[in-house]
Amino acid sequence: MMNLNDKAFLNDFLKSPKQIAIIPHRNPDGDALGSCLALYHVLIQLNHTVKVIAPNEFPEFIAWLPASEEILIFEKNFDTCAAFLQGSDLVFTLDFNALHRAGDQMGSYLEKLRKPFVMIDHHQMPDDYAKITVSNTNYGSTCELLYNFLTELNLQSYINSNAASCIYTGIVTDSGSFKFIKTTSDTHRVVANLIDLGVDNPKVHSSLFNTSSYNQLQLVGKALQQLKVIPNHSTAYTYLSQTDLNDCNYQKGDTEGIVNYGLSIKGINFAAIFIEHKEEGIIKISFRSEGDFNVNEFARNYFNGGGHINAAGGKSYDNLQDTILKFETILKDINKQ
Ligand code: 5GP
Ligand code: MN
Repeated sequence: MMNLNDKAFLNDFLKSPKQIAIIPHRNPDGDALGSCLALYHVLIQLNHTVKVIAPNEFPEFIAWLPASEEILIFEKNFDTCAAFLQGSDLVFTLDFNALHRAGDQMGSYLEKLRKPFVMIDHHQMPDDYAKITVSNTNYGSTCELLYNFLTELNLQSYINSNAASCIYTGIVTDSGSFKFIKTTSDTHRVVANLIDLGVDNPKVHSSLFNTSSYNQLQLVGKALQQLKVIPNHSTAYTYLSQTDLNDCNYQKGDTEGIVNYGLSIKGINFAAIFIEHKEEGIIKISFRSEGDFNVNEFARNYFNGGGHINAAGGKSYDNLQDTILKFETILKDINKQ
Protein backbone atom coordinates (compact mmCIF):
# COMPACT_ATOMS: atom_id res chain seq x y z
CA MET A 1 0.00 0.00 0.00
CA MET A 2 2.78 2.41 0.97
CA ASN A 3 6.40 2.17 -0.10
CA LEU A 4 9.09 1.80 2.53
CA ASN A 5 10.15 5.46 2.27
CA ASP A 6 6.63 6.73 2.95
CA LYS A 7 6.22 4.34 5.83
CA ALA A 8 9.56 5.30 7.36
CA PHE A 9 8.75 9.00 6.95
CA LEU A 10 5.36 8.69 8.66
CA ASN A 11 6.61 6.46 11.45
CA ASP A 12 9.40 8.90 12.19
CA PHE A 13 7.19 11.97 11.79
CA LEU A 14 4.54 10.70 14.18
CA LYS A 15 7.09 9.88 16.92
CA SER A 16 7.14 13.42 18.34
CA PRO A 17 4.19 15.79 18.91
CA LYS A 18 3.15 17.62 15.74
CA GLN A 19 0.31 19.82 14.55
CA ILE A 20 -1.85 17.97 12.04
CA ALA A 21 -4.88 19.03 9.99
CA ILE A 22 -7.33 16.47 8.59
CA ILE A 23 -9.65 17.48 5.75
CA PRO A 24 -12.69 15.75 4.18
CA HIS A 25 -14.24 16.79 0.85
CA ARG A 26 -16.94 19.45 0.65
CA ASN A 27 -20.41 18.20 1.58
CA PRO A 28 -18.79 15.39 3.56
CA ASP A 29 -20.56 12.03 3.71
CA GLY A 30 -20.24 9.19 6.22
CA ASP A 31 -17.01 7.92 4.70
CA ALA A 32 -15.35 11.33 4.52
CA LEU A 33 -16.25 12.43 8.03
CA GLY A 34 -15.87 8.91 9.47
CA SER A 35 -12.33 8.53 8.13
CA CYS A 36 -11.30 12.02 9.27
CA LEU A 37 -12.62 11.53 12.81
CA ALA A 38 -11.19 8.01 13.07
CA LEU A 39 -7.75 9.35 12.20
CA TYR A 40 -8.33 12.19 14.68
CA HIS A 41 -9.10 9.71 17.50
CA VAL A 42 -5.91 7.78 16.74
CA LEU A 43 -3.61 10.79 16.42
CA ILE A 44 -4.74 12.56 19.61
CA GLN A 45 -3.69 9.46 21.58
CA LEU A 46 -0.18 9.99 20.16
CA ASN A 47 -0.17 13.51 21.69
CA HIS A 48 -0.42 15.42 18.44
CA THR A 49 -2.39 18.65 18.14
CA VAL A 50 -5.09 17.65 15.68
CA LYS A 51 -8.06 19.38 14.07
CA VAL A 52 -10.53 18.10 11.52
CA ILE A 53 -11.31 21.02 9.21
CA ALA A 54 -14.33 20.49 6.97
CA PRO A 55 -14.89 22.86 4.02
CA ASN A 56 -18.57 23.31 4.93
CA GLU A 57 -21.25 22.02 7.31
CA PHE A 58 -21.83 18.28 7.62
CA PRO A 59 -25.28 16.66 7.52
CA GLU A 60 -27.29 15.78 10.59
CA PHE A 61 -27.24 12.00 10.05
CA ILE A 62 -23.52 11.88 10.89
CA ALA A 63 -23.52 14.64 13.51
CA TRP A 64 -23.49 11.99 16.28
CA LEU A 65 -20.00 10.74 15.33
CA PRO A 66 -17.71 11.03 18.35
CA ALA A 67 -15.81 14.36 18.40
CA SER A 68 -17.85 15.85 15.56
CA GLU A 69 -18.41 18.85 17.86
CA GLU A 70 -14.65 19.55 17.60
CA ILE A 71 -14.75 19.95 13.81
CA LEU A 72 -13.87 23.38 12.42
CA ILE A 73 -15.76 24.67 9.37
CA PHE A 74 -13.52 26.48 6.89
CA GLU A 75 -16.26 28.47 5.15
CA LYS A 76 -17.62 29.67 8.51
CA ASN A 77 -14.47 30.24 10.58
CA PHE A 78 -11.88 31.17 8.00
CA ASP A 79 -9.43 32.88 10.37
CA THR A 80 -9.29 30.05 12.90
CA CYS A 81 -8.98 27.43 10.16
CA ALA A 82 -6.33 29.35 8.22
CA ALA A 83 -4.29 29.89 11.38
CA PHE A 84 -4.38 26.19 12.18
CA LEU A 85 -3.42 25.21 8.64
CA GLN A 86 -0.54 27.71 8.60
CA GLY A 87 0.77 26.18 11.83
CA SER A 88 0.36 22.59 10.68
CA ASP A 89 3.27 20.26 10.01
CA LEU A 90 1.20 17.85 7.93
CA VAL A 91 -2.19 17.94 6.19
CA PHE A 92 -4.22 14.78 5.58
CA THR A 93 -6.87 14.88 2.84
CA LEU A 94 -9.33 12.01 3.15
CA ASP A 95 -11.90 10.59 0.73
CA PHE A 96 -10.99 12.89 -2.17
CA ASN A 97 -8.10 13.13 -4.59
CA ALA A 98 -8.25 16.58 -6.21
CA LEU A 99 -8.03 19.77 -4.17
CA HIS A 100 -11.02 21.39 -5.91
CA ARG A 101 -13.22 18.75 -4.20
CA ALA A 102 -12.71 20.83 -1.02
CA GLY A 103 -14.85 23.48 -2.76
CA ASP A 104 -13.85 26.69 -4.51
CA GLN A 105 -12.90 28.56 -1.36
CA MET A 106 -10.97 25.93 0.57
CA GLY A 107 -9.70 24.24 -2.61
CA SER A 108 -7.90 27.35 -3.86
CA TYR A 109 -6.59 28.02 -0.35
CA LEU A 110 -5.11 24.51 -0.16
CA GLU A 111 -3.54 24.89 -3.60
CA LYS A 112 -1.48 27.80 -2.26
CA LEU A 113 -0.70 26.15 1.08
CA ARG A 114 2.92 25.06 1.09
CA LYS A 115 2.59 22.12 3.46
CA PRO A 116 3.18 18.41 2.94
CA PHE A 117 -0.06 16.56 2.19
CA VAL A 118 -0.99 12.92 2.73
CA MET A 119 -3.85 11.73 0.52
CA ILE A 120 -5.85 8.66 1.58
CA ASP A 121 -8.54 7.93 -0.97
CA HIS A 122 -10.34 5.33 -3.07
CA HIS A 123 -11.50 7.36 -6.11
CA GLN A 124 -10.16 7.04 -9.64
CA MET A 125 -7.42 9.22 -11.16
CA PRO A 126 -5.73 10.94 -8.19
CA ASP A 127 -4.17 14.36 -8.73
CA ASP A 128 -0.52 14.83 -7.89
CA TYR A 129 -0.53 17.22 -4.92
CA ALA A 130 0.48 15.01 -2.02
CA LYS A 131 3.88 14.13 -0.60
CA ILE A 132 2.38 10.73 0.17
CA THR A 133 -0.44 9.34 -1.95
CA VAL A 134 -2.33 6.35 -0.58
CA SER A 135 -4.85 5.76 -3.35
CA ASN A 136 -6.53 2.45 -4.09
CA THR A 137 -9.75 2.06 -6.05
CA ASN A 138 -10.13 -1.57 -4.97
CA TYR A 139 -11.44 -0.38 -1.61
CA GLY A 140 -15.14 0.27 -1.18
CA SER A 141 -14.46 3.04 1.33
CA THR A 142 -11.71 5.35 2.51
CA CYS A 143 -12.47 4.06 6.01
CA GLU A 144 -11.50 0.49 5.12
CA LEU A 145 -8.37 1.82 3.40
CA LEU A 146 -7.58 3.89 6.51
CA TYR A 147 -7.91 0.80 8.70
CA ASN A 148 -5.23 -0.90 6.61
CA PHE A 149 -3.11 2.26 6.51
CA LEU A 150 -3.14 2.37 10.33
CA THR A 151 -2.36 -1.33 10.50
CA GLU A 152 0.63 -0.86 8.18
CA LEU A 153 1.96 1.86 10.47
CA ASN A 154 1.51 -0.45 13.50
CA LEU A 155 -1.08 1.95 14.91
CA GLN A 156 -3.85 -0.65 15.02
CA SER A 157 -3.76 -0.74 18.82
CA TYR A 158 -4.84 2.93 18.86
CA ILE A 159 -8.15 2.14 17.15
CA ASN A 160 -10.31 2.62 20.24
CA SER A 161 -14.09 2.27 20.28
CA ASN A 162 -14.56 5.88 19.09
CA ALA A 163 -12.22 5.41 16.13
CA ALA A 164 -13.81 2.03 15.42
CA SER A 165 -17.32 3.54 15.33
CA CYS A 166 -16.12 6.18 12.86
CA ILE A 167 -14.47 3.60 10.58
CA TYR A 168 -17.53 1.34 10.80
CA THR A 169 -19.74 4.26 9.76
CA GLY A 170 -17.73 4.95 6.61
CA ILE A 171 -17.73 1.30 5.61
CA VAL A 172 -21.49 0.97 6.15
CA THR A 173 -22.42 4.16 4.30
CA ASP A 174 -20.11 3.67 1.29
CA SER A 175 -21.02 -0.03 0.90
CA GLY A 176 -24.78 0.52 1.09
CA SER A 177 -24.78 -1.55 4.29
CA PHE A 178 -22.41 -4.22 2.93
CA LYS A 179 -24.15 -4.83 -0.39
CA PHE A 180 -22.15 -2.95 -3.03
CA ILE A 181 -19.69 -4.67 -5.31
CA LYS A 182 -16.45 -3.83 -3.47
CA THR A 183 -17.67 -5.44 -0.25
CA THR A 184 -15.15 -8.27 0.18
CA SER A 185 -14.42 -10.92 2.76
CA ASP A 186 -11.67 -8.55 3.93
CA THR A 187 -14.30 -5.85 4.47
CA HIS A 188 -16.23 -8.24 6.71
CA ARG A 189 -13.06 -9.23 8.58
CA VAL A 190 -12.31 -5.55 9.26
CA VAL A 191 -15.89 -5.02 10.39
CA ALA A 192 -15.68 -8.06 12.67
CA ASN A 193 -12.58 -6.57 14.29
CA LEU A 194 -14.34 -3.22 14.69
CA ILE A 195 -17.24 -4.86 16.50
CA ASP A 196 -14.73 -6.59 18.79
CA LEU A 197 -13.26 -3.15 19.47
CA GLY A 198 -16.59 -1.96 20.84
CA VAL A 199 -18.74 -0.73 17.96
CA ASP A 200 -22.40 -0.95 18.91
CA ASN A 201 -23.39 -1.94 15.38
CA PRO A 202 -27.20 -1.95 15.65
CA LYS A 203 -26.99 1.47 17.29
CA VAL A 204 -24.79 2.84 14.49
CA HIS A 205 -27.26 1.64 11.85
CA SER A 206 -30.15 3.16 13.75
CA SER A 207 -28.29 6.46 14.24
CA LEU A 208 -27.47 6.59 10.53
CA PHE A 209 -30.69 5.43 8.93
CA ASN A 210 -33.61 5.86 11.30
CA THR A 211 -33.46 9.61 11.33
CA SER A 212 -36.02 10.60 8.69
CA SER A 213 -38.33 13.49 9.31
CA TYR A 214 -41.88 13.61 7.97
CA ASN A 215 -40.77 16.29 5.49
CA GLN A 216 -37.94 14.09 4.25
CA LEU A 217 -40.32 11.23 3.50
CA GLN A 218 -42.59 13.67 1.65
CA LEU A 219 -39.58 14.64 -0.47
CA VAL A 220 -38.86 10.97 -1.21
CA GLY A 221 -42.53 10.60 -2.18
CA LYS A 222 -42.26 13.54 -4.55
CA ALA A 223 -39.12 12.14 -6.19
CA LEU A 224 -40.79 8.73 -6.62
CA GLN A 225 -43.87 10.29 -8.21
CA GLN A 226 -41.66 12.18 -10.65
CA LEU A 227 -39.63 9.10 -11.56
CA LYS A 228 -39.29 8.50 -15.30
CA VAL A 229 -38.38 5.11 -16.70
CA ILE A 230 -36.76 4.76 -20.12
CA PRO A 231 -36.84 0.99 -20.76
CA ASN A 232 -34.94 1.25 -24.08
CA HIS A 233 -31.93 2.59 -22.21
CA SER A 234 -32.47 0.57 -18.99
CA THR A 235 -32.53 3.92 -17.26
CA ALA A 236 -34.64 5.58 -14.58
CA TYR A 237 -34.27 9.16 -13.43
CA THR A 238 -36.06 11.65 -11.26
CA TYR A 239 -35.69 15.28 -10.26
CA LEU A 240 -36.45 17.71 -7.49
CA SER A 241 -36.95 21.39 -8.28
CA GLN A 242 -36.13 24.14 -5.83
CA THR A 243 -39.89 24.49 -5.31
CA ASP A 244 -40.14 20.79 -4.45
CA LEU A 245 -37.33 21.26 -1.92
CA ASN A 246 -38.93 24.36 -0.44
CA ASP A 247 -42.34 22.67 -0.19
CA CYS A 248 -40.77 19.95 1.96
CA ASN A 249 -38.65 22.36 4.03
CA TYR A 250 -35.47 20.82 2.58
CA GLN A 251 -32.57 20.33 4.98
CA LYS A 252 -29.07 19.37 3.92
CA GLY A 253 -28.85 15.58 3.50
CA ASP A 254 -32.57 15.09 2.89
CA THR A 255 -31.99 13.88 -0.67
CA GLU A 256 -29.30 11.37 0.31
CA GLY A 257 -29.98 7.93 -1.18
CA ILE A 258 -33.09 8.84 -3.19
CA VAL A 259 -31.23 8.13 -6.45
CA ASN A 260 -30.97 4.44 -5.51
CA TYR A 261 -34.72 3.81 -5.83
CA GLY A 262 -34.41 3.90 -9.63
CA LEU A 263 -32.02 0.96 -9.57
CA SER A 264 -34.46 -1.17 -7.60
CA ILE A 265 -36.73 -1.38 -10.67
CA LYS A 266 -36.32 -4.69 -12.48
CA GLY A 267 -34.29 -4.30 -15.67
CA ILE A 268 -32.89 -0.87 -14.76
CA ASN A 269 -29.10 -0.57 -14.53
CA PHE A 270 -28.67 3.21 -14.55
CA ALA A 271 -30.34 5.75 -12.28
CA ALA A 272 -29.97 9.49 -11.94
CA ILE A 273 -31.42 12.32 -9.88
CA PHE A 274 -31.31 16.01 -10.79
CA ILE A 275 -31.63 18.45 -7.92
CA GLU A 276 -32.08 22.15 -8.50
CA HIS A 277 -30.12 24.47 -6.19
CA LYS A 278 -31.27 27.94 -7.26
CA GLU A 279 -29.00 29.88 -4.93
CA GLU A 280 -25.82 28.17 -6.16
CA GLY A 281 -27.18 28.34 -9.73
CA ILE A 282 -26.52 24.66 -10.36
CA ILE A 283 -28.29 21.39 -10.88
CA LYS A 284 -26.58 18.82 -8.67
CA ILE A 285 -26.70 15.38 -10.23
CA SER A 286 -26.16 11.92 -8.76
CA PHE A 287 -25.61 8.84 -10.91
CA ARG A 288 -25.77 5.20 -9.86
CA SER A 289 -25.37 2.04 -11.91
CA GLU A 290 -25.37 -1.69 -11.47
CA GLY A 291 -22.91 -3.78 -13.47
CA ASP A 292 -20.59 -2.53 -16.21
CA PHE A 293 -22.02 0.88 -17.06
CA ASN A 294 -19.35 3.33 -15.90
CA VAL A 295 -21.03 6.37 -14.34
CA ASN A 296 -17.66 7.88 -13.38
CA GLU A 297 -16.86 8.27 -17.10
CA PHE A 298 -20.41 9.41 -17.84
CA ALA A 299 -20.24 12.11 -15.15
CA ARG A 300 -16.75 13.18 -16.25
CA ASN A 301 -17.59 13.31 -19.96
CA TYR A 302 -20.92 15.10 -19.82
CA PHE A 303 -21.64 16.63 -16.41
CA ASN A 304 -18.46 18.18 -14.90
CA GLY A 305 -18.14 15.44 -12.33
CA GLY A 306 -16.70 12.08 -11.51
CA GLY A 307 -16.65 9.44 -8.79
CA HIS A 308 -16.63 5.69 -9.06
CA ILE A 309 -17.73 3.15 -11.67
CA ASN A 310 -21.12 2.58 -9.99
CA ALA A 311 -21.59 5.84 -8.07
CA ALA A 312 -20.74 9.28 -9.32
CA GLY A 313 -21.96 12.84 -9.29
CA GLY A 314 -21.73 15.99 -11.29
CA LYS A 315 -23.35 19.34 -11.93
CA SER A 316 -24.94 21.37 -14.67
CA TYR A 317 -25.21 25.13 -15.13
CA ASP A 318 -28.20 24.81 -17.49
CA ASN A 319 -31.70 24.99 -16.03
CA LEU A 320 -33.42 21.85 -14.77
CA GLN A 321 -35.43 21.21 -17.92
CA ASP A 322 -32.48 21.71 -20.29
CA THR A 323 -30.26 19.54 -18.12
CA ILE A 324 -32.75 16.68 -18.25
CA LEU A 325 -33.17 17.16 -22.01
CA LYS A 326 -29.41 17.01 -22.44
CA PHE A 327 -29.33 13.83 -20.36
CA GLU A 328 -31.97 12.14 -22.50
CA THR A 329 -30.19 13.22 -25.69
CA ILE A 330 -26.90 11.78 -24.48
CA LEU A 331 -28.56 8.44 -23.71
CA LYS A 332 -29.79 8.30 -27.30
CA ASP A 333 -26.47 9.48 -28.75
CA ILE A 334 -24.42 6.89 -26.92
CA ASN A 335 -27.15 4.33 -27.60
CA LYS A 336 -27.05 3.15 -24.00
CA GLN A 337 -28.49 -0.32 -23.49
P1 5GP B 1 -23.23 11.61 -4.62
O1 5GP B 1 -24.09 11.23 -5.76
O2 5GP B 1 -23.53 10.80 -3.41
O3 5GP B 1 -23.18 13.08 -4.40
O4 5GP B 1 -21.76 11.22 -5.05
C1 5GP B 1 -21.41 9.92 -5.39
C2 5GP B 1 -19.92 9.87 -5.61
O5 5GP B 1 -19.60 10.66 -6.74
C3 5GP B 1 -19.18 10.44 -4.45
O6 5GP B 1 -18.51 9.39 -3.80
C4 5GP B 1 -18.17 11.38 -5.04
O7 5GP B 1 -16.93 10.78 -5.02
C5 5GP B 1 -18.52 11.53 -6.49
N1 5GP B 1 -18.94 12.88 -6.83
C6 5GP B 1 -20.10 13.50 -6.51
N2 5GP B 1 -20.17 14.73 -7.01
C7 5GP B 1 -19.02 14.93 -7.68
C8 5GP B 1 -18.47 16.04 -8.43
O8 5GP B 1 -19.08 17.09 -8.60
N3 5GP B 1 -17.21 15.85 -8.94
C9 5GP B 1 -16.53 14.70 -8.80
N4 5GP B 1 -15.30 14.60 -9.35
N5 5GP B 1 -17.01 13.66 -8.11
C10 5GP B 1 -18.23 13.75 -7.55
MN1 MN C 1 -15.77 7.31 0.06
